[in-house]
Amino acid sequence: MDVILTGTGFPTVDPRRAGPGTMVRDGDVCLQFDAGRATTQRLVEAGCPPAELTALFITHHHYDHLLDVQDLLLSRWMSSGMGIHPLPVIAPIGPSQDFINRVLDIWAEDIAGRNRQLGTVGGPGTELVAFEASDVLTEVWRGGDLRVSAILVDHFPVVPAVAYRVDGPHGAVVISGDTAVCEAVETIATGARLLVHEVILDAVARANLGNPQVRYHANAVALGAMAARVQVPVLALTHLIPAPNTAEVQAAFREEIRRGGYRGQLVLGEDLATIRLDRQEVPQILTGP
Ligand SMILES: [Zn+2]
Ligand SMILES: [Zn+2]
Repeated sequence: MDVILTGTGFPTVDPRRAGPGTMVRDGDVCLQFDAGRATTQRLVEAGCPPAELTALFITHHHYDHLLDVQDLLLSRWMSSGMGIHPLPVIAPIGPSQDFINRVLDIWAEDIAGRNRQLGTVGGPGTELVAFEASDVLTEVWRGGDLRVSAILVDHFPVVPAVAYRVDGPHGAVVISGDTAVCEAVETIATGARLLVHEVILDAVARANLGNPQVRYHANAVALGAMAARVQVPVLALTHLIPAPNTAEVQAAFREEIRRGGYRGQLVLGEDLATIRLDRQEVPQILTGP
């Protein structure tokens, strides 16, 4: 099972970093978690073009995680001969569900026009599976050798926001979505081989204490402490605030995670970084596909 960071950015536009997203691939099963800016391009780079995607999972209703859903659906339709090839989308009941139901409305005229031109019918579509987000880990999808479960996290006031856990033949990966360090992720990361978690530097959080947006992200020192408690072998940081594009910021992330007490393998997320869970005892860190 390969876990590929398709996007490690956040709302700030950064040419090196696509918007948030993580892909889990096991054989022919290719699952995408969130679809921030330029996710579709990253999926192609990672060898999973939109037509081959098995399902899309949404963590919460923030635009940085959803901007590329349109491109993903339209490109899937175009590249699969404009047939009916709906994409299963799994989302918590709430605004993300409404967003998925309406995301293609603004393209109705273009879709109809292309159909008229080519004599095709239908259009890009989704098969929405909306689930009631709960503070108990609940299975939301199953396919191939993989099982995906969800749990509510703390991205208050954004409710619902969920983390996902993917269980496969070679262990589990937890994908935090956006959240402060919280008990829910700690619980479901126990026993996982890889934790993909969002993060904000403690130093940045402290300098912006008056900003409520700081509170709903994961403080790096607290995250290091949590990862140490659950003894997860690999911690991959994504949605890094600020972007670790200089040696100083990279060092600051490492220092703060270690200060929290984490001693396992630490991956400072770059787009297309890949972590492979297989028979080997220690997950392998690859730079990209
Ligand atoms: Zn975000
Ligand atoms: Zn968010």
